[in-house]
Amino acid sequence: MGVGTPEEIVEYSKLGIDMMDCVLPTRAARHGLLFTSEGKISIKQARYAGDENPLDPSCSCQVCRRYPRAYLRHLYASNEVLAQVLNTIHNLSYYLDTMRRVRHSI
Ligand SMILES: [Zn+2]
Repeated sequence: MGVGTPEEIVEYSKLGIDMMDCVLPTRAARHGLLFTSEGKISIKQARYAGDENPLDPSCSCQVCRRYPRAYLRHLYASNEVLAQVLNTIHNLSYYLDTMRRVRHSI
């Protein structure tokens, strides 16, 4: 299977495909790539070092409600395992929200 990005999931759902499987959200999270309603964020970038905004203001996951981008970047830059855990929680939540929106639109 190997599908895919949130945008691909939405497009394939329109074609009637309703079963997908991919490592992308967890693999990307482990490497600091986060999917948000504002596009992809590479949390390793220095510009997030002082950013006190939530990772994704539109996301209701426990990571976005509790931790600012600066803290997530600090964890990643410090090579803390917690960075991988929190990033994975967010990306999976984002994917679940994407699928929830797809289901409601059908
Ligand atoms: Zn989130």
